[in-house]
Amino acid sequence: MEQLPAPLRAHARTLLGPGPSDVDPSVLRAISLPTVGHLDPAFLQTMDEIRSMLECLLGARGGRTTALSATGSAGMEACVVNLVERGDRVLIGQSGVFGGRMAEVARRAGAEVTLVEAEWGRPLELEALRRAAAGRQFRFIGLVHGETSTGVLQPLAGLRELADECGALLLVDAVTSLAGHPLDVHASGIDALYSGTQKCLSCPPGLSPVHFSDRAIARIGSRASAVQSWYLDINLIEAYWGGPRAYHHTAPINMLFGLHEALRLVLSEGLEPRFARHELNAHALWSGLEALGLELRVAEEHRLNPLTTVSIPDGIDDAAVRGRLLSEFGIEIGGGLGPMKGNTWRIGLMGSGSSRRNVHLVLSALATVLADMGHRAPENPIAAAASVYDA
Ligand SMILES: *Cc1c(COP(=O)(O)O)cnc(C)c1O
Repeated sequence: MEQLPAPLRAHARTLLGPGPSDVDPSVLRAISLPTVGHLDPAFLQTMDEIRSMLECLLGARGGRTTALSATGSAGMEACVVNLVERGDRVLIGQSGVFGGRMAEVARRAGAEVTLVEAEWGRPLELEALRRAAAGRQFRFIGLVHGETSTGVLQPLAGLRELADECGALLLVDAVTSLAGHPLDVHASGIDALYSGTQKCLSCPPGLSPVHFSDRAIARIGSRASAVQSWYLDINLIEAYWGGPRAYHHTAPINMLFGLHEALRLVLSEGLEPRFARHELNAHALWSGLEALGLELRVAEEHRLNPLTTVSIPDGIDDAAVRGRLLSEFGIEIGGGLGPMKGNTWRIGLMGSGSSRRNVHLVLSALATVLADMGHRAPENPIAAAASVYDA
């Protein structure tokens, strides 16, 4: 038989890495609907519904909420380039890869960056940010809510007050946390937020939900210079999404059909039940991993539910384990980044991928592969996970 093209051979995968996550079949069906024009009234209604569903998910009141036609990194870039002008001072917290990337984007946009670092695997402390601010004024304070490189959930409490002390806007990366952890832009006083579709929204990669508060929009309106990126200029994007429906670029229509369906699924599940599901499955996974004799990288109170980081035991070959999980079980988990490369695995339970079935699947496959490599599990990981569900 003739060999199938590569994308068709890869059909039997379970995506349990740092994203992309598994996509619900109804989202895939929505993406395969016939393409319509980007100014078709039916499509404009789809965009309006996406906007209002995103506002609901984000707890947004006012401001501008859209989905950019690009991945989460473009959302990061859009937030930065719309808010800053050359020479502006910004305060950025870095406790992993993505905070570092935000700082690099800000530097390239001409901002003067004050970087506050936390140890990998720990959140940033409010007091450390306040000390670094040293009473100065900043254009924005930027942080990552769910640091996918380390598996840490950054608390947002107190950041609004600190931003007010610094005359700053508050910018938050919610690529991994959105739809997996409670998040309310209004209650947390967030001025600019970006996310991505391929993590807890369980959509393919390619779109970036973004939100700017009224305060951020006012700031953008008072810029002395034009937004440095034409493609990511929120004024031009808003003229298509909200205003006179002026052509800016051809929206990725079928991807937006997918996001519409993904958001419908999120809201019909309900936000509280969805967050509780992510929490329960994460706890079962943690319990199973500990029964396997593996050490988790983050203290329990700072752990991100959709993404868990685990230390690789001494003498176990990172690439060999991940290779066998993929080739023998069709399971993808992630390796570490930066200082965690080669010593850490990243296991994602995101969106529709956060299920008891997947917890069982990844624990039993990992137990099998590790046992073959001579690693002894002190307890039964399946029983340990089950006890969390039965509690
Ligand atoms: C995945 C991720 C990004 C980058 O998103 P892309 O869609 O890969 O561009 C940014 N920040 C965080 C926290 C992420 O997890």
